[in-house]
Amino acid sequence: MFLTISTSGDAAHPATDLGYLLHKHPDKAQRFSTSYGTAHVFYPEADDRRCTAALLLEIDTMALVRRGKGKGRGGAPDAALAQYVNDRPYAASSLLAVALSGVFSSALRGVCNARPERAAAPLPLRIEVPALPARGGPDLVRRLFEPLGWAVTAEPVALDTEFPEWGDSRYVRLVLESETLTLAEALRHLYVLLPVLDDAKHYWVSSDEVDKLLRAGEGWLPGHPEQKLITSRYLSRRWSLTRQARERLELVRLAEADDSGVEEIDNAVPEDTGTETEEKPTPLAVERREAILAALSEAGAARVLDLGCGQGQLVQALLKDARFTEIVGVDVSMRALTIAARRLRLDRVSDRQAARVQLVQGSLAYTDKRLKGYDAAVLSEVIEHLDLPRLPALEYAVFGHARPRTVLVTTPNVEYNVRWETLPAGHVRHGDHRFEWTREEFRTWAAAVAGRYGYDVAFVPVGPDDPEVGPPTQMATFVMNVAAMKTEKAGPTEKEARTA
Ligand code: SAH
Repeated sequence: MFLTISTSGDAAHPATDLGYLLHKHPDKAQRFSTSYGTAHVFYPEADDRRCTAALLLEIDTMALVRRGKGKGRGGAPDAALAQYVNDRPYAASSLLAVALSGVFSSALRGVCNARPERAAAPLPLRIEVPALPARGGPDLVRRLFEPLGWAVTAEPVALDTEFPEWGDSRYVRLVLESETLTLAEALRHLYVLLPVLDDAKHYWVSSDEVDKLLRAGEGWLPGHPEQKLITSRYLSRRWSLTRQARERLELVRLAEADDSGVEEIDNAVPEDTGTETEEKPTPLAVERREAILAALSEAGAARVLDLGCGQGQLVQALLKDARFTEIVGVDVSMRALTIAARRLRLDRVSDRQAARVQLVQGSLAYTDKRLKGYDAAVLSEVIEHLDLPRLPALEYAVFGHARPRTVLVTTPNVEYNVRWETLPAGHVRHGDHRFEWTREEFRTWAAAVAGRYGYDVAFVPVGPDDPEVGPPTQMATFVMNVAAMKTEKAGPTEKEARTA
């Protein structure tokens, strides 16, 4: 991958100022190693009148393969996490964008202490990419760059010059010229639009891609006529493609589970509370909610996340108690959320009530900034819906990233299943349960998670605590420990939190 940036000047404004603006000296050829190859920066020409900086990216395909294949497999506890968070198969021009942002990071931000007035001013620019993968062809290239003030030359590159009849490749030779843009603006355009033009089905997984896009797009993306295409291509290539795909798959799976008529056996008992009599045992779902409400009150939580809120029964109960000032229900299933919204009659309650509650669609297997900064999170009958290898991703998203002070997790106690009269031996309680744990298994898991993320954990039985097989539902109460809270206050970096 190869890209050049040229400018022209005169004795008063020498073109070689480009070296200052890029923070790379024109007399030196420099190399920067990245995790996927080597980036070279050098100046084919550099005098007062003309100066050209070249960025050449030598991609180490073995490193790419290692990154793509090496991680995320095998039985290590973090394997699944690594697979979702660290694996980054890059598309070629995405690599160029990454190299740009790495090698010219200050220039991209418009920072130049040596020549601040030059960094802030437009300069004559000519940018050339001899072979740019451009799905959508020269026409799309023009639609993307012209509204930004570029004169665009985009010529299709023939597949093979010796065989013109084979037609054009998906590459174009791109030349951009402008006199009205600053270098930082130009670099930010490239940073976003090069990957947008590349239609390789490659992406990387990182939760802050949206932020990156908004930062790089500041000042030009909001008014761009192709804003929608840019945003959707940028994000789906690089990040949310996986997320969306997985969420959709999850939706299909859940819809199927919903339609199969299988009910949570412990939720199958009618819940028409008001009419409960002494003889009728309290449904387990109700007992569970009461146990959760009690634990939340004890923790003094006011701002609460209900993760995997389903059809919103707990959210509804939380809303009835004024101590809970902010309640967020999160679920991957749009269908469940729609039912929850109907249950809560959000269209009818007062504005003040409505302001206390939010329903958010999202997958718990991914970090989500919206979930940071809450007092408590509840995972009620949710973990058993995830495939075991995906559980570490949820653990990180909740305990490592969202990091509420208190986390409540409930899950079935499989030992109790022999006590369900209607449950055939060896069956789980719900068709969608990926696993059900013994008390021992749950405790082992919870202790490991607590240790990894700096929480203390205690266990509470929910429902009749059978002397032999224990209670039907088991609940773990995690509270962030003092040491972790101190570092939290000091503000751990993302990286520290991840390795904690
Ligand atoms: N918390 C409710 C619902 C439990 S059923 C209760 O206690 O009754 C499990 C819920 O978890 C379902 O609504 C399902 O859509 C949701 N869920 C499963 N996997 C999820 C994921 N990866 N992200 C978010 N929600 C998920």
